[in-house]
This record gives sequence, structure tokens and C-alpha cells, in this order.
Amino acid sequence: MAKNITVGYAALTSCSGCEIALLDINEKILDVLKNAELVYGPLIMDAREVPDNIDLLFVEGSVSTDHDLQQAQEYRKKAKYLVAVGACACFGGIPGMRNFFERNEILADVYPLKDKSEFLGPTQLSSKVQSLPMVVKTDFFVPGCPPLPENFLTVIQNYPNFDRIKLPTKTLCAECDLNKDKLLSPIREFTSLKIKNPYHFNEEEENLCFLERGILCMGVATRAGCGGRCVKVSVPCRGCFGPPPQEGSEDQGAGVISAISSILPTGRLLTKEDMLGLVYRYSLSVITDLQKYFHE
Ligand code: SF4
Ligand code: SF4
Ligand code: SF4
Repeated sequence: MAKNITVGYAALTSCSGCEIALLDINEKILDVLKNAELVYGPLIMDAREVPDNIDLLFVEGSVSTDHDLQQAQEYRKKAKYLVAVGACACFGGIPGMRNFFERNEILADVYPLKDKSEFLGPTQLSSKVQSLPMVVKTDFFVPGCPPLPENFLTVIQNYPNFDRIKLPTKTLCAECDLNKDKLLSPIREFTSLKIKNPYHFNEEEENLCFLERGILCMGVATRAGCGGRCVKVSVPCRGCFGPPPQEGSEDQGAGVISAISSILPTGRLLTKEDMLGLVYRYSLSVITDLQKYFHE
């Protein structure tokens, strides 16, 4: 790692959870400070703006307003290396679910004005939510909602040779320890005829893959890398590490539905409330074709 680099942390539309994850490196922050100087971070220090010529800038949050877009462009100009942090910056994240609707539908719902053109909000919502790489060149990605704290360290320690960091390319199922024998067998039609909610907990099935239990798990279309931190504590994956990197896999929601169609009776899934909100919880923004489909 280069000595004495300047590091900052900035936010677009976000919940600040990713910045908290950075602080969760706890005492390891002392290792960071041996070689890096923290110069900006809304929750960390009282600096007023990102300085010019900063070496490494982490950016969390989605591009959801005109102001976000201006900020993203300014950050790009100021930073030698720009890293997208969290599902919001990497894939549009939870704010990206707004893309199921037109901007005016959202405004009408939240601000029931007679004349929608009268809306004078503090900032102008963009017509669609975008991820950071959709609007500016991004040098590396730290996925997750929120990311793993140690991943920040990895990025800082490998500055500026981020290509040395090998992110997993397989799906979460590859690193999940739950028993999935039936899923891997050649004949696997309708492993479960029932579709249950995650709170239908049965101790006998505790070590069984969620899909085999009839509980929807996004691990089949989600990039590995989190170590299965949810499935390890009996919570099905909801996909926050985004889709795997292979070409054609970027549609995470379609990936899940396609993968489970021979495992669960998919038709029944369609009767589940907010199925699309579930399978596109983090990555709707990167599916531009799907947006067109929904609005044609
Ligand atoms: S990725 Fe998750 S934790 Fe990070 S800003 Fe977005 S919603 Fe918050
Ligand atoms: S679908 Fe979920 S529970 Fe099943 S193997 Fe994959 S990650 Fe584990
Ligand atoms: S198990 Fe899924 S939802 Fe949980 S942290 Fe990992 S990728 Fe995110």
C-alpha cells in the first residue's frame, strides 16, 4: 500500500448504514491510520467538504436526485480513485425500487397535491434511481447492505492496485453450509410443494437449504462474499451482494425466478405479496430493460 494516502467517505441518497459499517472495523482503524489520513466523513469528522485531489474516496448511496448527480460528478473530479460502497451505490439498492413507478406517481403518493407540477421539494427527484457506476467511472466496488467492515480495510490496504482483490464470482450457495443435496440432484422438480414464510421454523429442518424447506432464498442468484452471514443465523438471503458478475446474470430477480422454477412451484410464488419487491430489493436500478418493460 502507498504511504500516507488521503481517504474520505461521502454519501449520496443513503441511510448512513455503510458508514457505520466502516466504523465497525473498531480498533483496526489504528492500522488504517498508520498509512492513511482520514480527511472527510460526515459521521466521522467535522470537515465541511471533500478536499480536492483526495487519493481514495468511498461513496455510499444511490443517485436519486439532481443534487446526487452533481455530487457524484464533483466527487469523481476530486478523487483519484472512487469506490462504490454498499448495495445502494453499487446497484441502486433499496431506493432503486422506486423505479417500478414513474416519478410523478411517487410524488402524488407522498405529496397529494392537486397540480403535481406544483411540487417544490428541497431537491428534484431524478426520473429514475441510478447506481454510481451508471453515472461516473467507478474504480472498485464494495457490495452489501451494509458491506462487511473488513472489506474497507482490504480496499485501503490494496490501494491503488485494486485488481489484486479477488472478489468471489460464484453464487452464495457455493459458500453456504446448509444441506442442499436434493437441490444438486439431477431430478429435482418441486423439491417442496409448499411455499412458506421464513418464520415457519421447524427444528428438524434447521440444517436444510431454505429452498428445500419451501422458503425463498436469494442465494441462488446472489454473488458470494458475505460468508452467508444471514443463512448462518436462520435468515434467508435477500440478495444484498447483488448479482454474480457473469455476463447475462445482471438481472438478479429473473435469475432467482429462473433458478427456482424447477425447485418450487413458481406459480405459487406469484401469489406472494410483493414478489417483485423481494427479488429486486437491491438491484432494480441496473436492469434498464426491465424498467422499459414496466412502463411500456
Ligand atoms: S447499502 Fe444499505 S446500509 Fe448502505 S446506505 Fe444503502 S440501505 Fe444503507
Ligand atoms: S439457496 Fe440459500 S439456503 Fe439454499 S444453498 Fe443457496 S444460499 Fe444456502
Ligand atoms: S446472506 Fe444475502 S442478504 Fe445476507 S448479507 Fe449475504 S448477500 Fe446479503
